[in-house]
Amino acid sequence: MAKKKTVTVDAVHCKGCQYCVDACPKQALALGQETNTAGYNYVVLDQEKCIGCGTCYIVCPDYVFTIMEEEDA
Ligand code: SF4
Ligand code: SF4
Repeated sequence: MAKKKTVTVDAVHCKGCQYCVDACPKQALALGQETNTAGYNYVVLDQEKCIGCGTCYIVCPDYVFTIMEEEDA
């Protein structure tokens, strides 16, 4: 069975540098209008567009992304 990868965003640690926004091949990431507790606008992930490639996880300097693998039922 194929594994489904789910990406989650820990917005508290995002500094809004947008490295991930530029690097995402699916334009699944965008900087949101709201700010986190540190005062930075943080990225918002569109799960519909995300293919779980992990590029955002690699480029983010602040460990905002977590990628989880789930077995399909
Ligand atoms: S895992 Fe890939 S497709 Fe999904 S948000 Fe990150 S860079 Fe974009
Ligand atoms: S690369 Fe990391 S810190 Fe920079 S905008 Fe993306 S999630 Fe935020």
